[in-house]
Amino acid sequence: MEHFYTLQGEGFHQGRAAYFIRLGGCDVGCVWCDVKDSWDASLHPEVSVAKLLAQVKSTPAKIIVITGGEPLMHNLDELTATLNANGFQTHIETSGAHPLSGKWNWICLSPKKFKAPLPAILPLANELKIVVFNASDLDWAEQYAAGVSPNCKLYLQPEWDKASAVTPLIVEYIKAHPQWELSLQLHKYIHVP
Ligand code: SF4
Repeated sequence: MEHFYTLQGEGFHQGRAAYFIRLGGCDVGCVWCDVKDSWDASLHPEVSVAKLLAQVKSTPAKIIVITGGEPLMHNLDELTATLNANGFQTHIETSGAHPLSGKWNWICLSPKKFKAPLPAILPLANELKIVVFNASDLDWAEQYAAGVSPNCKLYLQPEWDKASAVTPLIVEYIKAHPQWELSLQLHKYIHVP
C-alpha cells in the first residue's frame, strides 16, 4: 500500500527510526480503523521484494516494520528472509488473525475484538498492544495478557478519537496494574507518517 522511512510511534520501539512497509488487505474490520484504505488488497499494486529492498537500502534504516492492513494475510517468508539476509531487523505489527509466516526479530501482537487472534501467536509475541476504545477493553486486555509469555511487554494505547475519554482510565488502570505501560501514537503528535 505504501512504504516510508519515519519514526516508530508506538510501543516498545517508540521513537526509533524505522522503515515502514504497509501491506494492502485486511479482513478484521475494526470500526475505528484509521487505514480503511488498506482493506481491499486489489486496490494496491504488487511491489517486488527486490524493489522494496532497494528502497529500504537507500535509507540508513536498521529496523523494518511490516504492517498493514493485516500483513499476515500474505506469506512473508521471502520478504523477511531477504531483509534478514541484508542485515535488517524485521518487526511485525499484526492482529494475529492469520497464521504466522516470516522470521521476526520483534512481534507486536495487537488483538482485535472484531476477529480474534489465532492462539498459536500469543506465546510468540514480544509485545502485546491493546487499543482501548472503552472501559470494557481493559478487562478484555487481561484475557490476552494471560496467554502471552512472561517476558512479553504489555501496552495499553488509547484509541485516537477516544483518547480524551479513555486516557484517564488507562492511567488509573496502569497505576493499579503496573505490569502494563502506556503507549501513545507519538507519530500523530509530531505529525509524521
Ligand atoms: S486490524 Fe488494523 S488494518 Fe485491519 S481493520 Fe483493524 S486497525 Fe484496520
